[in-house]
Amino acid sequence: MVQSFYESVLEQIDATAERISLDPGIHKMLRQPERELTVSIPIEKDSGEIEVYTGYRVQHNSARGPCKGGIRYHPDTNLDEVRALATLMSLKCAVANVPYGGAKGGITCAPSKLSKKELQRLTKRYAAMILPIIGPRRDIPAPDVNTNAETMGWFMDAVSMEQGKTVLDIVTGKPLELGGSLGRREATGRGVMLTAIELLKKLKKDPKKTTVAVQGFGNVGSIGAELLVEQGCTINAISDVSGGLCNPDGLDIPDIIKHINSKPRAPLLKDYKRKKGDETIGNEELLELDVDVLVPAALENQIHSDNADNIKAGIIVEGANGPVTKKGDEILAERGTYVIPDILANSGGVVVSYFEWVQGIQSFFWGVNEVNENLKNIMLKGFDDVWNISKEKKVTLRDAAFILSIKKIAKAVELRGIFP
Ligand code: NAD
Repeated sequence: MVQSFYESVLEQIDATAERISLDPGIHKMLRQPERELTVSIPIEKDSGEIEVYTGYRVQHNSARGPCKGGIRYHPDTNLDEVRALATLMSLKCAVANVPYGGAKGGITCAPSKLSKKELQRLTKRYAAMILPIIGPRRDIPAPDVNTNAETMGWFMDAVSMEQGKTVLDIVTGKPLELGGSLGRREATGRGVMLTAIELLKKLKKDPKKTTVAVQGFGNVGSIGAELLVEQGCTINAISDVSGGLCNPDGLDIPDIIKHINSKPRAPLLKDYKRKKGDETIGNEELLELDVDVLVPAALENQIHSDNADNIKAGIIVEGANGPVTKKGDEILAERGTYVIPDILANSGGVVVSYFEWVQGIQSFFWGVNEVNENLKNIMLKGFDDVWNISKEKKVTLRDAAFILSIKKIAKAVELRGIFP
C-alpha cells in the first residue's frame, strides 16, 4: 500500500532528526502542527439548496515568523493532507530563508462541479470561518491546486468587508489590480526552471540536449514547461487530469498554453487539437518515459515503492508538493536519481508571495525585472546551500534540504525559548 503523504513527511523529519541529533523536544514539536482548525462551510447553491462543505486551516510552526501557505480545493483534500502540506511549508520557508512559518488550508470539494458564483460564495464563507486564526502578521494564505488570483481577490474582499476596511495583505497571489505582484503567477514555475537549469549546470549537461516530461499542466507545470522551452529544453510529454500528450520531437508548448488559456476555466488537454507527431499518453506511462528530466507538478504520492524502480529520468524536479513518497525516494536514491525536493524546487511561489506581502505593506510596487532578479538570487542561494550540504555530508538533495531547514527552525525555537 502507498504510504500516506503525512506519514512520508514525518518519516523524513524523523530520519533528519536522527541524522543531526536534533533536541528530542524540538523533534516532538515538529511532528505536530501548532494549531488546526476544521470548519463547516454552508453555501446556498444556485438551485437554492444549502450544501455544507468541510474546510481546514493548519498552522504548523511559527517560530520563524507568521505562517504562510496556500489553499487547495480538491475532492480528496483532508486534514492529514493539509497537515503534511503545512509541515512542508515551514521547511520550504526556512530553505528559502523567507521570514515565515508554515501553514496550509483546503476545502474538500470538486470545483469543476461548482459554478463561479458558488465558488465565490464558498471562498468568502471559508475566509470568514478561518478569519479568527489568520491575519497579515499571523497567517497569510495564497493559491494552490484549483485556486488562483481570482479566488484570492474574493478571499480578500470577504475579510475586508468583515473588518470594515480594505485589507490587502491578508492573502498573496492576488490579481495585479488588487495589490498582487508582477511575476507571482509565474513564480513557482520559474523556480522549477531555475533549479532544474542549475542542476543541469552542476552535472555539465546542455539544456538544449535535455528532454523533459511534465505531469500536471496547471499553474506550476505549464509555466515550468514554457520556461524550460525558453532555455532550449525539449518537452516530450505533458499531462493533466484528463490524460496526456507526447511527441518524441517535442510538443508545441506555447500553442498548448494558448489552448489552456482560451477560456476562463482552463480547458483540458484532451480537447487540444493535436499537431503532427502528437500522440496520447497515460499518466503512469508518462512518469516512466525515457527522458532526462521528469517534473511531477500535479499532486502528491505519484512516485512510490511500486513504480520508483521504473522511473528512467535521471533528474526529478518536484514541482508538486510530496510527489515522491519516502519509500519511493529511498529507491530513487539507491538508483542514483537526482531529486530536487519540493521544499527547494517549488519555493518560487512563496518567495514571490513574500515579495507581494512586502510590497503591500510598503504600498510600493516593483517592476517585473526586480521581482525576477530577486527571485533568482534567493532560489540560487537556496540551491547552493542545499547542494553544498549534500556534497559535504554525502546525502541526497532532499536530505540536505531537510537538514538545512530543520536546523534553522530549531535555532529559532531555541532563541525564542519555550513559552511560558
Ligand atoms: P493547478 O490546479 O493549477 O494545476 C494542477 C494540474 O494537475 C492540473 O493540470 C490538473 O489537471 C493536473 N492533475 C490533477 N490530477 C492529476 C493527475 N492525477 N494526473 C495528472 N495531472 C493531474 O495547481 P498548481 O498550483 O499548479 O499546483 C500543482 C502542484 O504544485 C501542487 O502539488 C501544489 O501544492 C504545488 N505548488 C503550487 C504552488 C503555486 O504557487 N501554485 C506553489 C508550490 C507548490
